[in-house]
Amino acid sequence: MKKKHLPDDASPLYGSLASGKDVVLKKLRKKPISAHIAYQLIKDQLIDEGNARQNLATFCQTYMEPEVTKLMSETMEKNAIDKSEYPEVARLETSCVNVLADLWNAPDAEEVMGTSTVGSSEACMLGGMAMKFRWRNLARERGLDLNAQKPNLVISSGYQVCWEKFCVYWDIEMREVPMDEEHLSINLDKVMDYVDEYTIGIVGILGITYTGKFDDIEALDQLVEKYNETHEHQLVIHVDGASGAMFVPFVDPDLAWDFRLKNVVSINTSGHKYGLVYPGVGWILWRNQEYLPKELIFDVSYLGGNMPTMAINFSRSASQVVGQFYNFYRLGYEGYREIHKHSQKAAMNISKAIEETGLFKLYNDGENLPIVCYTLKEDADVSWNLYELADRLQMKGWQVPAYPLPADLDDIVIQRFVCRADLGQNLADSLIEDFLQCIEDLNHARILFHDDDEPHVHGFTH
Ligand SMILES: *Cc1c(COP(=O)(O)O)cnc(C)c1O
Repeated sequence: MKKKHLPDDASPLYGSLASGKDVVLKKLRKKPISAHIAYQLIKDQLIDEGNARQNLATFCQTYMEPEVTKLMSETMEKNAIDKSEYPEVARLETSCVNVLADLWNAPDAEEVMGTSTVGSSEACMLGGMAMKFRWRNLARERGLDLNAQKPNLVISSGYQVCWEKFCVYWDIEMREVPMDEEHLSINLDKVMDYVDEYTIGIVGILGITYTGKFDDIEALDQLVEKYNETHEHQLVIHVDGASGAMFVPFVDPDLAWDFRLKNVVSINTSGHKYGLVYPGVGWILWRNQEYLPKELIFDVSYLGGNMPTMAINFSRSASQVVGQFYNFYRLGYEGYREIHKHSQKAAMNISKAIEETGLFKLYNDGENLPIVCYTLKEDADVSWNLYELADRLQMKGWQVPAYPLPADLDDIVIQRFVCRADLGQNLADSLIEDFLQCIEDLNHARILFHDDDEPHVHGFTH
């Protein structure tokens, strides 16, 4: 007799027809299933991929308050690009741009141009395009032969992959200033050797993804100023502040890296990193319209009139912008400062514990950004490596990456903890305890060796 199934809405969840089938579809099922079954089975499917809060590989935000989560889920249906239909969302977005212009010390906030994006990648793409278009317009006026060579972009080899994408998509030569043991950020003795008439700009990184270190943007600005005094070609700096630009203004406001520096013409940040919003929101601001060529500005209709837009993407939910605005509105300067100071303290406690083992050399102790980053000392007398330590930590639920540094330093394997707002002191203490226990376990473990000398990457995310 053919087995009869109960109707979906009457059957117990785990006795339902759907529960006996693979959730991951290869093609659409013919018939619908009930919402509660679909909800639970999809949720179950996601159960074993790790706990986001224990994922210390990512810079991206993993906690938001219930009030803002509610607000964001209630605004998901609004389309951020429909400025006429949702003029209040447009006003909140403009308000966020104004807040950032002030935080980044724009000399004239009225003149600043800016937009939200999906993240820093879109923002960097826009920053890069603006530099390219401006360079081309000015180079043409100077009578430079635009076909003689490709335009180029100068950046340290610690760049995030979005810059490589930018250069590939826009046919720009990427000139990488190599890092070495003495220069774990942009090498100021060498950077100007990479510049010529075809340079669209230099990118300074406030928070190198690999290590959390900062390029010395103030010193870079002075080099650029000197160049500009003696050349008709005027160099500009774009600051990639994906992680640092929403951290430094609150924790180290005296550090000059932003629009206080004359040649910094644009800055991007990820709202979903230290802006404390869930992915995806980013921002880019230009000092003034001079640095955002008009070819890149498009009009959308807004309350019967027009409003300029410069983002690449068109439709996207307004909820991320609303989330960013909520954080600004709710936390204020001191709220952000307190949260970031806490992350900093957690990072510094973790790095202290790591150092005290005597086994590791620290590259970053969390004082600038709350990133702890270290390598195994050459003379550490242990028979395991950082990849094995990462595996052990994963057994306790902690996800941390181990990976080689970029070009020229790629024989150095490092490990990194990114501390975020939701890694409170209690959690940080458990992490330290687990870390020390993992070392103890490894010291007594039988380790399986593989003949594989290739440097490999273990869960490195940006
Ligand atoms: C994370 C990161 C990016 C990319 O940011 P998304 O917001 O993830 O697109 C770019 N540059 C740096 C330095 C980063 O750390």
